[in-house]
Amino acid sequence: KKLLYKDEARPKKLAHKEPTTDAIIQKAKDLKKHRLSLPIYTARDIIIKEVKENACVVIVGETGSGKTTQIPQYLLESGLAAHGTIAITQPRRVAAINLAKRVAEEVGTPIGQKVGYSIRFDDSSSRDSLIKYMTDGIMLRELLSDRLLLRYSVIILDEAHERTLRTDILFGMVKSIQKQRQELIDKGRKDVQPLRIVIMSATLNAEKFSEYFYNAKIMYISGRMYPVKILNTIEPQSDYVDSALVTAFQIHQEEAPGDILIFLTGQEEIENLEKLIEEYAVDLPPSVGKLIPCPIFAAQDSATQQKIFEPAPQGTRKVILATNIAETSITIPNIRYVIDTGCHKSRGYNAKIGIESLLVEPISKSSARQRSGRAGREAPGLCFRLYTEYSFDQLEEDSIPEIKRCNLESAILSLKATGIDDVTGFDFMDRPSKSGMLRSLEHLYALEALDDEGKLTEIGTKMAAFPVDPPYAKVLLQSEKMECTKEAIEIISLLSVDSVFSAPSSKREEANEARQKFVSLDGDHLTLLNTLRAYESVKGDRDWCRENFINSRHMRHVMDVRKQLIQFCERSGMDPKKSCGHDLEIVLKCFLAGFFQNTALLQPDGTYKSIIGGQTVSVHPSSSLFGKKREAIMYNELVFTTKHYIRGVSALESAWLPQAAPKYFGRRQA
Ligand code: ADP
Ligand code: MG
Repeated sequence: KKLLYKDEARPKKLAHKEPTTDAIIQKAKDLKKHRLSLPIYTARDIIIKEVKENACVVIVGETGSGKTTQIPQYLLESGLAAHGTIAITQPRRVAAINLAKRVAEEVGTPIGQKVGYSIRFDDSSSRDSLIKYMTDGIMLRELLSDRLLLRYSVIILDEAHERTLRTDILFGMVKSIQKQRQELIDKGRKDVQPLRIVIMSATLNAEKFSEYFYNAKIMYISGRMYPVKILNTIEPQSDYVDSALVTAFQIHQEEAPGDILIFLTGQEEIENLEKLIEEYAVDLPPSVGKLIPCPIFAAQDSATQQKIFEPAPQGTRKVILATNIAETSITIPNIRYVIDTGCHKSRGYNAKIGIESLLVEPISKSSARQRSGRAGREAPGLCFRLYTEYSFDQLEEDSIPEIKRCNLESAILSLKATGIDDVTGFDFMDRPSKSGMLRSLEHLYALEALDDEGKLTEIGTKMAAFPVDPPYAKVLLQSEKMECTKEAIEIISLLSVDSVFSAPSSKREEANEARQKFVSLDGDHLTLLNTLRAYESVKGDRDWCRENFINSRHMRHVMDVRKQLIQFCERSGMDPKKSCGHDLEIVLKCFLAGFFQNTALLQPDGTYKSIIGGQTVSVHPSSSLFGKKREAIMYNELVFTTKHYIRGVSALESAWLPQAAPKYFGRRQA
């Protein structure tokens, strides 16, 4: 064997399979050609010029044109990283890692040096990193320790169209940081450098962003797009995974070469379909090439993940199974066929208790267009929508920003927990009404989440972490003190559905009678609890549910929410099993700590008047306290139809009030 070096210098043994420096440099050289061929390359000089000359720039360009991987490198090459790192935020962890690794390859250094990434529980960036990909959550966290983000010279807010609560907070924060830094510079501070902001997206209401960022310059990067033919199903599909499977095999057997991309909603679904494809592929006639499923999801090692970018062996076809990460964040080459299930998982809020969960929901029209566009990047393509044309017409034009979907009080708690005290002065892109904010702030104060100065209290900090609306969060916290967490979790879960009782109009009498078994004289909260106990004692038997007019679908949902809440309590160090046994009055007192504002007193004329606001309210006919007269009542919901109806009603003693909300009732009585 020939010696490479003098003997002593010879590498002993390769300890692990990290690529060698030579390999890394060679790879970067190979990728150079790819870099020069991207559509964005023709705009390189003008992008550099605009970013140098403007404090904020909005860049809109077709997915795959090279925004995320190239722009940071252009800025680096032009010397913009001289006074700090270039940061690029991503809404998804997988995208942050994947893109950072790709860019490290293109730059020609191992990941974690010149190019790094930082996501929760995994920081592969160093002091020397000049380009850093990170999730928006991490940037918010860094803000807490570095208020002016001084380590960054440029902040690129990527995928700006996603409009999560986090990104919206981030928009306002970086905007204000930029201004603060400029003020310090104007005062002569030599150690502070200006901050440049770049907003990027493939699909964006660019004018709106531009207006928000002081009429920032908008740049449109044209991509290359081939026509994509859209096919809708004739009938609605009952099982889109199954329809996707059938469609994939149909494409494979009938259509020209080119890979398939299927949009699904989550890891479980992806893995299911992967198995199904493997099973069915065995039966393909030998004349037909292999069909190779390639899943992408978060918990996946990087070698497996890299496989999706490599070309399929001659004569075979890849079918990529992805979530909406493949919509705009990651571009996979050689896709000619897209199968769009029309769904995604989005952070949703239960309208009743505000529990946050990932719900499978229909996508927006603009997402559907993005998805179909993935088929036409390199040649004319086909997009199979697994839904009817009529369903497409029913979709929302754009997805609604999270801040408009979640409860305003929750949003305020999140802002405060991020260190923003002046929420009314906060520069929202979509500003909630001032009166709404003031009302929410007062309510949060009454709930003891905020102190006299509007600062987050210890209770408020804990409440901010709960995945339910603030009054319910308060009930859960209070339940720990009152030792009735088990019951509190159960009742909150029961309140998360419209009703666990079913009352078909033809059998109303019968249904009413069946319900009497569960009714508690104290009202709906304990009636619900009795119902749950009975349901559990028969292990959720469906026949029992039918006989007793219990909506078993809603009941199963209740059990799901309960599981989520139990897990949450365990994680935050509470004991979800703590029970008050038979002393159920405690549970009502506990609820009052969150719902003291929703209380009403009996009037001499037999009506109820709300304690706050003095409005006449009527107990809803579906309530177990309908037609009953009690000294004082509390309720969970006020619904306005023909009257101000209240639902979820329980009786209480007015003497409980000062104790439940000292801030509210204590002073009045004094
Ligand atoms: P944009 O942000 O405009 O959507 P990107 O910068 O993400 O575009 O992608 C530019 C190009 O780089 C695309 O053609 C994409 O296929 C390619 N690319 C990105 N990441 C990888 C990777 N990990 N492996 C191979 N190619 C990649
Ligand atoms: Mg991108």
